[in-house]
Amino acid sequence: LASRELQKNDTIVMVGKIPIGGGSLAMIAGPCAVESFEGLDRIAQLVKDAGANILRGGAFKPRTSPYSFQGMGESGLKILKEVGQKHHMPVVTEVMDPRQVALVAEYADMFQIGARNMQNFDLLKEVGSTKLPVLLKRGMAATVKDLLMSAEYILAAGNPNVVLCERGVRSFEDSTRNMLDMSAVPNVKGQSHLPIIVDPSHACGRPDLIPAMARAAVAADADGVHIEVHDCPEKAFSDGPQALIPPKYTSLMVQLRKLAEVM
Ligand code: PEP
Ligand code: MN
Repeated sequence: LASRELQKNDTIVMVGKIPIGGGSLAMIAGPCAVESFEGLDRIAQLVKDAGANILRGGAFKPRTSPYSFQGMGESGLKILKEVGQKHHMPVVTEVMDPRQVALVAEYADMFQIGARNMQNFDLLKEVGSTKLPVLLKRGMAATVKDLLMSAEYILAAGNPNVVLCERGVRSFEDSTRNMLDMSAVPNVKGQSHLPIIVDPSHACGRPDLIPAMARAAVAADADGVHIEVHDCPEKAFSDGPQALIPPKYTSLMVQLRKLAEVM
């Protein structure tokens, strides 16, 4: 079902009123985690002013250590929804467990399936049983074929609204968090009609590399970029070291718009 052979035209996935695919750029931005109403409200205003059109924020966080901040749970979802409505932005947030799908669907405009859950097949089937759009992130040890097969699970369960996300894969390079596989963008587009966006934040893990990789993503014809932004990265509850500060995000967005015009 994901195959380009079966469907020649690009799929356009609507997230609220925002189209992803078919030529328009999804600019997804926000903090790694929802931390408080005031904090998210501040960041939402800043990224919206810069031109972001979808707000992100995790309420259920997949952390390497069980002692790290695990997310605010349902109270975080409530904050995310309220802030999204206030700023007229649809919201995307991670769902980690099939048992959370109904709850997250009450608050989110788009599910995120994180890299660690790309092959959680029961979770894929569960989000596939809804019609809410799904942002499916590539696993850090998954091939492009694996990614497309995971998308297939969601499509086969009856949900056609899948957006893929390249977020880097594990490599021997240890100066970056993961290694961004930019070739995944044209590689996916050749094989599938589904939209694909790029997340340079989790791929690089370093704010100094994010602008160049985001520009490269737009030049590679990605359908959008997903960037973590925090106005006080030192105090962020998760992924602070990779967060872009708002002024840097704003100037990057100016560049991306210019680049999109010549594409
Ligand atoms: C995230 O988006 O905050 C996240 C945990 O991403 P990934 O699943 O790509 O690591
Ligand atoms: Mn994160």
